[in-house]
Amino acid sequence: MSTKYETVIGLEVHVQLSTKSKIFCGCSTEFGKAPNINTCPVCLGLPGSLPVLNKKVVDYAMLAGMALSCDIAEYSKFDRKNYFYPDLAKAYQISQFDLPIAENGNIEIETDNGIFNIGVTRVHLEEDAGKLVHEGSIDKSEASLVDYNRSGVPLIEIVSEPDIRTPAQAKAYLTELKLILEYLEISDCNMEEGSLRCDANVSLRPEGQKEFGTKAELKNMNSFSAVEKGLEYEVKRQQKLLDEGQVVVQETRTWDEDLNKTISMRGKEEAHDYRYFPDPDLLPLEINQSWKKEIRERLPELPREKYKRFISEFSLPAYDAGVITGNREMAEFFETVLKDYNDPKNISNWMMGEFLRLLNENNEGPYDSGVSPENLSKMLKMIDEDVISGKIAKKVFEIMYESGKDPEKIVEEEGLKQISDEDELESLVDQIIAANPDAVEDIKNGKDRAIGFLVGQIMKETRGKANPGLVNQMLRDKLMD
Ligand SMILES: [Zn+2]
Repeated sequence: MSTKYETVIGLEVHVQLSTKSKIFCGCSTEFGKAPNINTCPVCLGLPGSLPVLNKKVVDYAMLAGMALSCDIAEYSKFDRKNYFYPDLAKAYQISQFDLPIAENGNIEIETDNGIFNIGVTRVHLEEDAGKLVHEGSIDKSEASLVDYNRSGVPLIEIVSEPDIRTPAQAKAYLTELKLILEYLEISDCNMEEGSLRCDANVSLRPEGQKEFGTKAELKNMNSFSAVEKGLEYEVKRQQKLLDEGQVVVQETRTWDEDLNKTISMRGKEEAHDYRYFPDPDLLPLEINQSWKKEIRERLPELPREKYKRFISEFSLPAYDAGVITGNREMAEFFETVLKDYNDPKNISNWMMGEFLRLLNENNEGPYDSGVSPENLSKMLKMIDEDVISGKIAKKVFEIMYESGKDPEKIVEEEGLKQISDEDELESLVDQIIAANPDAVEDIKNGKDRAIGFLVGQIMKETRGKANPGLVNQMLRDKLMD
């Protein structure tokens, strides 16, 4: 009988903080500039230059730490992590080793299999390295160029406890973490531009065993689905080795998106390989109570709390609450509409339906569109008051999205007002009755469904503007006793 294994996963996530200037100098952090434009003696690591800590970076790291329920250290310090690589100008990276700014947090996640609490070991501050540009692939390139624009861009590294048990949980953890950071507005979390990077430690152990198995570190997974696929592959690879009685080697492996497999890169470094020591150029970081208090007051309602509140307070289905709170602006938009229009489910239907469809089509956020919360609530009221039908409203909504116009004005300009006046519809109803003797016969023989056919004909004639309820009633009055 083959052994059953338990998967153990821990994630290390690097997040670029969206401050305007770098962590230890005044250079801009703007992405996409010409190479080596955003540099100065400090971030180029020139001799004699001295780093000065950017306070805003600390504010952001504290916000992240608090949002992840960590303890914020009153005393932390910066250390040099020494290694040589051409993208690292000083041949050391300023990071935090044994006294990180935040520790002992957690993130609650939800998957199809339930709710799980994943521990956050630590959050620490560090600077990013520069970027090497190769001509083609790294192993075939004749030469490599270096761009130091990214050197000194502020990062936080968020390290999870090895509490994750499946690739699906890993994906849920990352999704929740990204959402929290977006709610805090401290990073754009753009994975393509490298603002959010994820490495994973993964190992297997026989079920019931306490000690961890030998782990492999996975790098270079630059999308959530790559993380999930990379981990799934790695679990299978290790399982096969163990089943065959072989050993898993501790090493760093890279996920190759094209080959759909992980490939060994190098043996794993240990902390002592880096010869960490306190950076003598930087003072220790002391955070007093009033600074903590000031930052705590800036914490917004977090996505998980908002999600739960949307379910309990507005009776939204969990699915709706998840979609709406899955984007901070959508959630804010939703609550603004709600101030003026008290039907949460109807608002969420429109936001998840027509609105989200157009936003995705145009790759926009709700506030980039022409629809304002005021105008959406106005339009929903017009439907409720039978000024327009639900069908016509879709047309109004599209025009509103493009033009930003008031829905009342759109209805007037486009002549979309619902016809709810019996006198106005009378002759048309008579015409349709006269033109469809077969349907009339069916109705008289008790086939109710034929009424729907006649209503449809009238809606067609009026281009959707007739009030369908009224038309239905008029037909019944005329044809049924
Ligand atoms: Zn600089």
